[in-house]
Amino acid sequence: MSEVLVLVDHVDGAVRKPTYELLTIAKRLGEPSAVFIGAADQAAEVAEKVKKYGAEKVYVVDDAQIKGYLVAPKAEALQQLAEKAQSEGGLAAILIPSSAEGKEVAGRLAIKLESGLITDAVDVQADDRKGPVTTQSVFAGNYTVTAKVTKGTPIITVKPNSATPEEAEGAGTVEEFAATVSDAAKTAQIVASQPRQATGRPELTEAAIVVSGGRGTGGNFEPVEGLADALGGAVGASRAAVDSGWIQHTFQIGQTGKTVSPQLYVATGISGAIQHRAGMQTSKTIVAVNKDEEAPIFELVDFGVVGDLHTVLPAATEEINKRKG
Ligand SMILES: Cc1cc2nc3c(=O)[nH]c(=O)nc-3n(C[C@H](O)[C@H](O)[C@H](O)COP(=O)(O)OP(=O)(O)OC[C@H]3O[C@@H](n4cnc5c(N)ncnc54)[C@H](O)[C@@H]3O)c2cc1C
Repeated sequence: MSEVLVLVDHVDGAVRKPTYELLTIAKRLGEPSAVFIGAADQAAEVAEKVKKYGAEKVYVVDDAQIKGYLVAPKAEALQQLAEKAQSEGGLAAILIPSSAEGKEVAGRLAIKLESGLITDAVDVQADDRKGPVTTQSVFAGNYTVTAKVTKGTPIITVKPNSATPEEAEGAGTVEEFAATVSDAAKTAQIVASQPRQATGRPELTEAAIVVSGGRGTGGNFEPVEGLADALGGAVGASRAAVDSGWIQHTFQIGQTGKTVSPQLYVATGISGAIQHRAGMQTSKTIVAVNKDEEAPIFELVDFGVVGDLHTVLPAATEEINKRKG
């Protein structure tokens, strides 16, 4: 069976959930091989994690020489690995997380391999002789596009939460791969980096519960944060809240922000514009708190509360905390 390369999404060796989603998709297409570009001494731990989701091989590209540089070395390393896999047992696809970095790596890789590229897939399925078929949700979720790569090795970036990770034991055989990185790939150097201030809350795209605030907060996110913390959830926001300078863009949900698909999404003081819906409409249960009973968000909710969020949220938070004991 042909290999499917999956670029491991990690922060300093801590594997992120999209990796397991990609491995689950990779199993549909062929034999999953995880590609870990990171510190060699973290490889064993990474291999233990990814093999639980079906990784038969774990290629380790030690990043000691390249970690101070931006994405170009990663694209070169993947190109060399892809050529090796292609010449050995064949390569069915390369799956990369749809992050800003992932998409840039994928674009560079597609040029190097002279292969077709599909970005932001929300589903990937096998189609026996024709290779993988992808689904993309475009124009704020108004159109669903089905596509396939017609040249070279399909390179596909997949949005987070596009598959439910399924555990499946793989061999997890670690194979070190010594990539040769050209000087040309080292022309953009990272001069400083600072970790984001820890909030103690789950990462937005991975959270099972998201509580979002919009213009209706009037800039006071305390009730939103209080409810998110009571529920162990992440905080999100509409673009109106971001554009008003109340909260950073990293919290924005929607067409030009993040896509979330949690078990529970609570939209507060958010009208439900199509561009906001595009980032949250696949949430399993949707709850809205809005003082306008005509607000369009109520068209898509499972539960709606008509009321002022500054009253409703603290009351809900208090009740939840009371019940938690
Ligand atoms: C190209 C493009 C891309 C865009 N991308 C995004 C995107 O990624 N994400 C996004 O969110 N938007 C996006 N937008 C903007 C989008 O069209 C809306 O303008 C935006 O979502 C509105 O944000 P909002 O719901 O917070 O504000 P509003 O539409 O102003 O709604 C505020 C709501 O709060 C309610 N409210 C007011 N006070 C209270 C209170 N005290 N208690 C309870 N409810 C209250 C009001 O009744 C109202 O329904 C985009 C627009 C364009 C053109």
